[in-house]
Amino acid sequence: MTEKRLIPNTFGIPAHARVYAEYTSLEELRALLQTYKSERLLHIGAGSNLLFTKDFDGVVLHSRICFARALEEDAEGVNIEVGAGIVMDDLIAQVADMGLYGLENLSHIPGEVGASAVQNVGAYGVEAKDVIREVHAVAVESGEECVFSNADCRFGYRDSIFKNEWKGQYIITSVVFHLSKQPQPRLDYGNLRQALAGKEPTPMNIREAVIAIRKQKLPEPAELGSAGSFFKNPIISPEHFQTILQQEQKTEAEIPHFETADGIKIPAAWLIEQCGWKGKRQGGAQVYEKQPLVIVNTGNATAQDIITLAADITESIEKRFQITLHPEVNYI
Ligand SMILES: Cc1cc2nc3c(=O)[nH]c(=O)nc-3n(C[C@H](O)[C@H](O)[C@H](O)COP(=O)(O)OP(=O)(O)OC[C@H]3O[C@@H](n4cnc5c(N)ncnc54)[C@H](O)[C@@H]3O)c2cc1C
Repeated sequence: MTEKRLIPNTFGIPAHARVYAEYTSLEELRALLQTYKSERLLHIGAGSNLLFTKDFDGVVLHSRICFARALEEDAEGVNIEVGAGIVMDDLIAQVADMGLYGLENLSHIPGEVGASAVQNVGAYGVEAKDVIREVHAVAVESGEECVFSNADCRFGYRDSIFKNEWKGQYIITSVVFHLSKQPQPRLDYGNLRQALAGKEPTPMNIREAVIAIRKQKLPEPAELGSAGSFFKNPIISPEHFQTILQQEQKTEAEIPHFETADGIKIPAAWLIEQCGWKGKRQGGAQVYEKQPLVIVNTGNATAQDIITLAADITESIEKRFQITLHPEVNYI
């Protein structure tokens, strides 16, 4: 299917693609790449991490490669290959129902399987990279099929090689996940353990607890436009953290922080709240009351409203904490 149309995005910002094309097989994808060889291309999933700043003067591609099949299996676990066009949460519902561990903490994150590898989606102490074995892709330039190992993908915090060195060079067609048959519940993050309230930590019970927590804190895309967390949580040096403690006249216990291999991670939501942004509006864009890391479209926001609000937040945090926030959302 090929036509000019509105590009789906959970922010609910109207933007058109000159051409919008979907495909259901590798052959169709290769044919599209051949047809639009000299065009500007953008491959999207469900548009849940995109901010369209204007119409896209080129070809938007979207995968409808939708299959899931078990590959190798033993007593410990199973490798499952899943088409890039499958909705991630549909997959998680299915494998949780089969009693397989690995993806349940990522329940209810909007988006599709292909993007889960690009973004290395994460929630409640789990990242997609923890269960991704391989990523299958097609090279945009040559149409050649490629298989990448987990190490090849250079996963990082909400990051992978597909967002950096290889940006725009490969289209992910399927992802192989390794899921465990042995109990491997990960409950140490947030109030997941409490939310399970004495229930057995099966993949399905964990999934339901995650969904219940997320529904209390995050906007539902069908009701209120957003792209989830707008900014990444910044990582600063221990010295910088000490300077902030002195400046703010606070103890370590008073500033939420997590030690990581790269430095000290501070929740961006805390920084945003400290600077008084919770609930603040800029045109139709608003800092979400229940979770200040999220910018929502209250109904009629323009991309410029969102850009201005994000820039003002960034500037005030730089001024007060000398920390530069970086967007998690992809500006297009
Ligand atoms: C309410 C809400 C809550 C959210 N919560 C979380 C959360 O808890 N954790 C989290 O990590 N994220 C979260 N997100 C962000 C978002 O769900 C993820 O980033 C998700 O992976 C985006 O998937 P998508 O299919 O919508 O991809 P899109 O937003 O359409 O695309 C994302 C990127 O992937 C690229 N891409 C998409 N498909 C392919 C493909 N097949 N091949 C190559 N490149 C491709 C795009 O070009 C783009 O660069 C949230 C978003 C919302 C709206």
